[in-house]
Amino acid sequence: MNSSTGMDADVFAQFLDQLDRYVRERLVPAEPEVIANDGIPDTLRQEMAAMGLFGLTMPEEFGGAGMNVSQYIETIHTLSYAMPAYRSIISINIGMVCSALKNAGTPEQKAQWLPRLAAGEIAAFGLTEPGSGSDSAGLQTSAVRQGNGYVLNGTKRYITNAPYAQMGLIMARTAKDNLPKNAHVSAFLVPLDTPGVSRGKSDRKMGQSGSHIGDLIFDNVFVPGDALLGGEEGRGFATAMQSLDNGRLSVGAASTGYARRMLDTATRYAAERKAFGEPIANFQLIQAMLSDSYAEIYAAQCMMRDAIAKADAGTKILKEAAAFKMFASEMCGRVADRCVQIHGGAGYLAEYEAERFFRDARIYRIYEGTTQIMQLVIAKQMLREFAAGGV
Ligand SMILES: Cc1cc2nc3c(=O)[nH]c(=O)nc-3n(C[C@H](O)[C@H](O)[C@H](O)COP(=O)(O)OP(=O)(O)OC[C@H]3O[C@@H](n4cnc5c(N)ncnc54)[C@H](O)[C@@H]3O)c2cc1C
Repeated sequence: MNSSTGMDADVFAQFLDQLDRYVRERLVPAEPEVIANDGIPDTLRQEMAAMGLFGLTMPEEFGGAGMNVSQYIETIHTLSYAMPAYRSIISINIGMVCSALKNAGTPEQKAQWLPRLAAGEIAAFGLTEPGSGSDSAGLQTSAVRQGNGYVLNGTKRYITNAPYAQMGLIMARTAKDNLPKNAHVSAFLVPLDTPGVSRGKSDRKMGQSGSHIGDLIFDNVFVPGDALLGGEEGRGFATAMQSLDNGRLSVGAASTGYARRMLDTATRYAAERKAFGEPIANFQLIQAMLSDSYAEIYAAQCMMRDAIAKADAGTKILKEAAAFKMFASEMCGRVADRCVQIHGGAGYLAEYEAERFFRDARIYRIYEGTTQIMQLVIAKQMLREFAAGGV
């Protein structure tokens, strides 16, 4: 992640204020409709595009808002007070694909793709495969040179937006031998209407209705040479990992934003629900669950603000981003669990929001690197620093 001044601070403060109101007055009330249709209505998607949400981090000359890392992550934190589908539809564009294009794209690739993505064309990020997830460097999708381009073969699994994405940033193996494992992987910008690309059905999943994942299948898909990100073979894995740093901050912010919503919902319920002749909020064991949740959300927000300030200053935040993602996603799971508990029997019913908060939160501990992988990333970095005499 690069240091950047980002949007003017006053303009950004106004934007965040406006977004907060939009989230509470428009996106939250529309949630039942998103759930009923398992999708975001077109009108809302258009409104989100008109607000610039698909182009938050894209440079202004390409139609984006030019946000720096902290502005982007604060935006995700605010947006994620509403159900996760809203973040899901924009975050691949801005967090993953735009970040990869900005970091590694050629000027022509930026000019070709960034304005389209900023305008709301939906992107997919294809790293995971049937045989490789945490061990992402073990991917098998191949890209073999042919004439002035490459032929792609392989299957990508659990890909967010796969059923309707218009383009994909696809990781594929361009070499096999005598190279470190990661240097086999290159990244390709692929229009998903290219002959030979097909999509699996939208997978049924535990939560996060309104967002969709599925397979992307590449069967002898020819892409021209200029589809290779940055025009350089063997850089794809490094690019993917760099984008994941950004993605981890985004998942941490999403977990923290959604936990705020859960706590507000639990507090409201505790104040209204009566047992033994008084509001359950009067019971100290209920208060303990509320205050533990408040303290943990506050801790996650502090971690977030520290990590993003460092990112804006140009500091490498591998360890901080992993620690924030790990803490915030686990915290969100605990807050969701307490929210169910505070609701008692109502917490188990689909009629109340607590039940879906609980299901929605579960994925945050898994994607963009599981908690176990975050532990490994943090420890590896700590030991690297120790070996370098930094402790
Ligand atoms: C809703 C959803 C959306 C997704 N979106 C995308 C997307 O857009 N693009 C994309 O590329 N991928 C996406 N994914 C895939 C996601 O990133 C992977 O599922 C995740 O990284 C875990 O990989 P895996 O499922 O193969 O699990 P595995 O790697 O098989 O892990 C299984 C278990 O083993 C543990 N484990 C693995 N290795 C180790 C180790 N070395 N030490 C200790 N424990 C270990 C894991 O922590 C986990 O508990 C998505 C997944 C879901 C469910």
